Amino acid sequence: MDIDSLPPNINSRGVDSHSFDAIVIGSGISGGWAAKELCEAGLKTLVLERGRDVKHLKDYPTATLAPWEFPHRGEMPRKFVEENPLITKAAGFGEDTAHFFIRDKDHPYVQEKPFDWIRGYQVGGKSLIWGRACPRWSKYEFIAPARDGYGIEWPIGYDDIAPWYSYVERFAGICGNRDGLEAMPDGEYLPPFEFNCVEKDLQKKLSAKYKDRFMIQGRWAQLTEPADIHLKQGRARCQARDLCMRGCPFGAYFSSNSSTLPWAAKTGNLTVRPHAVVHSVIYDENKKKAVGVRIIDALTHESTEYFARIIFMNASALNTNLILLNSTSNRFPNGLGNDNGLLGKFICHQNYRGSVHGRIEGFLDTYYYGRKPAESMMANFRNLKKQEMDFAGGYMAFMGCNRRRGAAGTDGPQLGEDYKQAMSEAGEWTCYMYMQGETIPKETNRVYLSKDKKDAWGIPLLVADVAYDHNDELLLKDFLEQSSEMLTNAGVKDLQQVDNHWAPGRDIHEMGGCRMGKDPRTSLLNGWNQLHHCKNVFVTDGACMTSTANQSPSILYMAFTARAASFAVKELKKQEI
Ligand SMILES: Cc1cc2nc3c(=O)[nH]c(=O)nc-3n(C[C@H](O)[C@H](O)[C@H](O)COP(=O)(O)OP(=O)(O)OC[C@H]3O[C@@H](n4cnc5c(N)ncnc54)[C@H](O)[C@@H]3O)c2cc1C
Ligand code: SF4
Repeated sequence: MDIDSLPPNINSRGVDSHSFDAIVIGSGISGGWAAKELCEAGLKTLVLERGRDVKHLKDYPTATLAPWEFPHRGEMPRKFVEENPLITKAAGFGEDTAHFFIRDKDHPYVQEKPFDWIRGYQVGGKSLIWGRACPRWSKYEFIAPARDGYGIEWPIGYDDIAPWYSYVERFAGICGNRDGLEAMPDGEYLPPFEFNCVEKDLQKKLSAKYKDRFMIQGRWAQLTEPADIHLKQGRARCQARDLCMRGCPFGAYFSSNSSTLPWAAKTGNLTVRPHAVVHSVIYDENKKKAVGVRIIDALTHESTEYFARIIFMNASALNTNLILLNSTSNRFPNGLGNDNGLLGKFICHQNYRGSVHGRIEGFLDTYYYGRKPAESMMANFRNLKKQEMDFAGGYMAFMGCNRRRGAAGTDGPQLGEDYKQAMSEAGEWTCYMYMQGETIPKETNRVYLSKDKKDAWGIPLLVADVAYDHNDELLLKDFLEQSSEMLTNAGVKDLQQVDNHWAPGRDIHEMGGCRMGKDPRTSLLNGWNQLHHCKNVFVTDGACMTSTANQSPSILYMAFTARAASFAVKELKKQEI
């Protein structure tokens, strides 16, 4: 389609006021980075966001409320839970954070198999409510899929992305220790949150017993000691209140709202258009490139088009798949760039099913101060340098030791003076560990568009057809055995193993469907996150992932986005795209 020949309902008279150098779809973690990089490079950039606007500080209504100031003390009323069985399952969802999550009935999708699609639709996306864990991948995760035969070759390696990890870590502000581990390389870290005394003891015991297993202070997107660049963003030191998902009044954790978007706005090059539900990317058959984006206004349901020279897809993995699948033309009848029919396939997630917890005896004369908004991590120790197990892939774990509330006397009725008295004293120490496992990319794990069901804006519903497999079961079994053995050897008592049987999706680490690769026959994107067959469209959210690895993914999306934006700007200058 040529812009000049667009049909009359299209806003062709308004092309000038609707024209930008770059369009970014989505304002969450990756979209915020795209906006920052493109605006800093001097490009007039439009960010299209389906949700409402959320301004840093002003729109955090619960940030400073005390527990007794919530009508239901933080819980959701039963009616609400019954009406929202999906979103109320999300980690951290509660009366204090509910305003940053969707409502089930507003955003339906089809579950071919059980799949919990957790979403936060607003300016800032899920960057407001993420957990903030930011470990790096090691060089091995980039080579393992091809090496061990469970996926295609990544088009880039650790050395390509390492400088970009550093770049985003410095700006976002990631805390952590420099541990010198191969399985979880060090980054540009602010000082870590400290272990408490029981965690210190646990770490000592584990490292005495296991030479290949490392419990470390986690790497988190929290300003433990703000550097100049963070102060320039108007952000301040973390106060260890552990109320982050409400939005932070100190800007102490990284979000698009506290960091990248205001930074982009300062350049004067940013326009954010909230309530803009992107329907599709417009492809020009004569120019052989994408020329813009069609949106439906979330409130008025009016259709409008915006035009730009490059487009960044950052709607979060599954929504990016949906938009690309819905972007059909004569050239691309099955979705933009989808010549090989693989768009929407090889959807992946991470395996959060296993956890163990138990009691630690002693240490009753010790306590800790503050509420640490972070956990310790154990780096992956499975299949790192070669496949040694009867399953593919690895897992990392989150772990910690805390003191319970409630000394003697809490076994009786949970009310009355004795109970109140007991709850005002510290109880025994407990210890926990839960897994974050790799899942294997499979063609059968896929999303596609419903042929007959549409949402309120006339856009086809997404169908999710994603399931766990035998490899996931083996990996889970190994985690449960190994974590129980490690904690038992470290003296933890009364260990309990849990398989929570969560459906895929609840891990909230949606990935794949538009994967990177060297060969256009088996992938959608090249090593610069460009669609092989439509070079001015870049996909830099989780949809681009060729495999999942075991580490939390968002810091990698940030690094991919900054790297791709830098490349895109150079290509634009050379007039190559
Ligand atoms: C409770 C929780 C804990 C998490 N913990 C961690 C963690 O510890 N570490 C980690 O790495 N990750 C974590 N995640 C995952 C992390 O939030 C995501 O990986 C990350 O936000 C993905 O970034 P994104 O830019 O792709 O998507 P998002 O941040 O979700 O942003 C996408 C944006 O696109 C918008 N959008 C969607 N569709 C359209 C459309 N059609 N038109 C216009 N706009 C659209 C959305 O409204 C949204 O604002 C967690 C998530 C949650 C919810
Ligand atoms: S713990 Fe730190 S980052 Fe989280 S809300 Fe408190 S001050 Fe902000």
